[in-house]
Amino acid sequence: MRDDVPVPPENSVAPSAGLLLTADGVSKSFGGVAALRAVQFDLMAGEIHSLMGENGAGKSTLMKILSGVYTDYEGTICVDGSPVRFASVRDAEAAGIAIIHQELNLVPELSVADNIFLGRERLIAGVLVDRRASLNSSRALLGRLGIQLDPEARVGTLRVGEQQLVEIAKALSLNARILIMDEPTSALSPAECQRLFKIMRQLSESGVGIIYISHRIDEVMQVSDRVSVFRDGRHVWTRPRLGLDEDTVIAAMVGRSFLGGDRTSMTASGPSILSVRNLSLSVAGRRGRREVLRGVSFDLHAGEILGVGGLLGAGRTEILTTIFGSSGGHTGGAICLDGAPVNIRSPRDARRLGIALVTEDRKTQGLHLHDTIADNVALPLVGRLARLALRSLRREEAITKHMVDVLAVRCEGVDQIASTLSGGNQQKVVIGKWLATRPRLLLLDEPTRGIDVGAKREIYDLIFKLAKEGLAIVVVSSELPELLHLSDRVLVMAEGRQTGILSHAEASEERIMQLAAPRGAAGGAVA
Ligand code: ADP
Ligand code: MG
Repeated sequence: MRDDVPVPPENSVAPSAGLLLTADGVSKSFGGVAALRAVQFDLMAGEIHSLMGENGAGKSTLMKILSGVYTDYEGTICVDGSPVRFASVRDAEAAGIAIIHQELNLVPELSVADNIFLGRERLIAGVLVDRRASLNSSRALLGRLGIQLDPEARVGTLRVGEQQLVEIAKALSLNARILIMDEPTSALSPAECQRLFKIMRQLSESGVGIIYISHRIDEVMQVSDRVSVFRDGRHVWTRPRLGLDEDTVIAAMVGRSFLGGDRTSMTASGPSILSVRNLSLSVAGRRGRREVLRGVSFDLHAGEILGVGGLLGAGRTEILTTIFGSSGGHTGGAICLDGAPVNIRSPRDARRLGIALVTEDRKTQGLHLHDTIADNVALPLVGRLARLALRSLRREEAITKHMVDVLAVRCEGVDQIASTLSGGNQQKVVIGKWLATRPRLLLLDEPTRGIDVGAKREIYDLIFKLAKEGLAIVVVSSELPELLHLSDRVLVMAEGRQTGILSHAEASEERIMQLAAPRGAAGGAVA
């Protein structure tokens, strides 16, 4: 064992000591959606056990159960062979389990040291926070990990990769002997990944068990001792990394039922339905005007699907709301529909021009949960009075029935209340309500968020079908596999600017991530 290895003092377990953690028959659902179905998982001391699966496979959900975030589940969890039932994250921490979440959990305004010891500040005489002690401990901890970071630096000024290292230091300051890392490398540079792997190996050599989640199969093959695959909330298998090849893993991840909706990507020619030139948007904030979009230009043809990728806050949603007239800010640039310049100042203008927007949050913006499917679908179609008239003519019902058929909404009937439908079927109703207006241009913002894998496939099929019928579609998605699967071309945004448009052939997760990286992260040091 090397002497720069951070050895968790009290809880350290020799690698031979065997099983640290087991999960047996663990199930969990959210509303009607089963996220985990009786899964098995275990972790040995001193191993790196990777968990792989497509988006929505249930990986994060299991990790949140193991780390005390979710307390409501079925099944048994054992630590060191004894059943445990964590009531909180603190409980799990006390058992030596620390998690680094997919979303970082640091306070940007505080220093590195303060973040590491947040909530566990050392006190002088029981009252004053002993800053010197926490600075010294932080320095020692970072030093042992070989991390070159100033403990006094404000976390908000660090790059994402560096913030990730602070999270790791924080987890280790808890003397974790079970470390869960949920997609830690999705925002890291290759050099930062390698540094992280080195630290992971050092930790595992000291007896820490690591659960590593990543969708990058090359990384998983490089770093793991064992690999488990989940699919649709189920455990597919667990195998030693040795002797395993990438194709076997991928086949297990996607199963027989791949994303579905086979479609040869189209390269459109001829006149475009939508043409956007130099689109910009600025909004009023507390600190004056802020530019949220700049220099966005693209064309979109009938039957074409344009994906929009980028990190959170990159301006993806704003492209849609600017086109739809609902951005609420100052807009600039030119929009042409069928070659004619248009001036869209409100959603009403947009609707009249044949544009539909399905917003990200269907619960608050897209769907009237307490109304029936029929009422929801008819809603944007006509004004309320006309709706009553329509109803008396029973046309509304006919239209709705037709939509429900077209969309394959699983329901008892068009009078079923929307809130009682599953997430996927709710989303179909939202899309259906807009399709009833017969749009030419459909804007979709995160169309499958919060929907289980099976229903996602149905939404993909629907989107393909609509494109085939000649609709032009713009779809914003945070899920790279989804973006790659759906899009004929992918427009990538970073910090409000368009950084590239990739053809279907050019687009890959790596290319999109490169273009999505903020300049600060790509260009090295940040002040
Ligand atoms: P993964 O991490 O493998 O991508 P998750 O565990 O995040 O998968 O999600 C599994 C399933 O549970 C998905 O269908 C997802 O939409 C659903 N889900 C996860 N968290 C929640 C939540 N807080 N509320 C509702 N559904 C959720
Ligand atoms: Mg996840």
